[in-house]
Amino acid sequence: MKPFTFDARLPRVLFGEGALAQLADEAARLGARRVIVLCTPQQTDQADQVRTLLGAYAVATFDRAVMHVPVATVAEAHAAARQGEVDLAVAIGGGSTIGLAKALALLHDLPYIAVPTTYAGSEMTPIYGLTEQGLKRTGSDPKVAARAVVYDPLLSRHLPIGLTVTSGINAIAHAIEGMYSTDANPVISLMAEEGVRAMAAAIDGLVAAPLDADLRSQALYGAWLCGTVLGNAGMGLHHKLCHTLGGSFDLPHAEVHTVVLPHAIAYNAAAIPEVVARVHRALGGMAGTSVPRLLFDLARRGGAAVSLRDLGMSASGLDRATDIALQQRYPNPRPLERNAIRELLQHAFEGITPT
Ligand code: NAD
Repeated sequence: MKPFTFDARLPRVLFGEGALAQLADEAARLGARRVIVLCTPQQTDQADQVRTLLGAYAVATFDRAVMHVPVATVAEAHAAARQGEVDLAVAIGGGSTIGLAKALALLHDLPYIAVPTTYAGSEMTPIYGLTEQGLKRTGSDPKVAARAVVYDPLLSRHLPIGLTVTSGINAIAHAIEGMYSTDANPVISLMAEEGVRAMAAAIDGLVAAPLDADLRSQALYGAWLCGTVLGNAGMGLHHKLCHTLGGSFDLPHAEVHTVVLPHAIAYNAAAIPEVVARVHRALGGMAGTSVPRLLFDLARRGGAAVSLRDLGMSASGLDRATDIALQQRYPNPRPLERNAIRELLQHAFEGITPT
């Protein structure tokens, strides 16, 4: 067995249908007195539900969280927090809202509880992003970790099926890259394999029955495992490409992950036979099927876009995307080869069935 170091970073988690009802107790446990609720303009109903459950703790709401955490939005949210003299934030939503809470923790030392409603996994990581003048910088800081995470599957019941599929595949991407990360270890790989299994089965089930409570629980359980992998292992080529395409070409986060993943795994497959075997098993693949093909078919069965072209990318951007993805070197099982990465992006652009 390869030697490893495992310095686990795991936020406190409350999981289960109706877990949201424990929010006021969590606020009390953290010694909070005055709480601000963060959400996007699309999730004000869920923020109201949170406010009701928090009772007298809830003194303010900021409902303008947006993708990529612009610094101007952080400043506005901070002004609302200062005005309300708050000592805790509750972020209800996906990676965008939790990203705003992380920025407030980083820049203004405001602790937060995360209440995830997608499967993106940000709530389990110490990774933050901030966008200023069109440039997104990311970093990792223990300061931005959630003080508690409340996973209540009832909150994702009405997540549109399109985002359910792409957000779920976004989670699967964390798990697969975590298994071949230089910081991989046996525990992370166990969580990753189980995360892929739970999430892939839930995606297929939810396409047929989007309101099924057990399947929503299973998907959120998968998201927790995959997010934990993301928080404890460095990512490789796939995440780098998605970061480039999202940040520099303004393409939607979960959808990009869904398009690129089969092609990124096809690029690395020959260098990671053991990981491929485990993912194949987790995806319930039949003999003779390939992991890239299984991932591609999972997306297609869920009705997700499988080409960058369909996400609005233009062919003229592919050379620049390749250059940006190669600017900084990072660990990846197969060495980064310019021509092969350009070809990978061409395949993703066209939505070619991976072999
Ligand atoms: P998102 O947070 O941008 O949400 C997408 C849309 O779906 C929003 O309008 C949101 O309000 C809505 N929505 C969310 N949950 C819903 C629900 N249950 N029902 C109905 N609508 C709902 O999407 P995301 O994919 O969760 O997050 C993407 C962002 O998170 C990206 O900026 C990405 O970089 C970041 N991210 C960060 C990390 C990290 O570790 N730092 C990890 C994953 C993602």
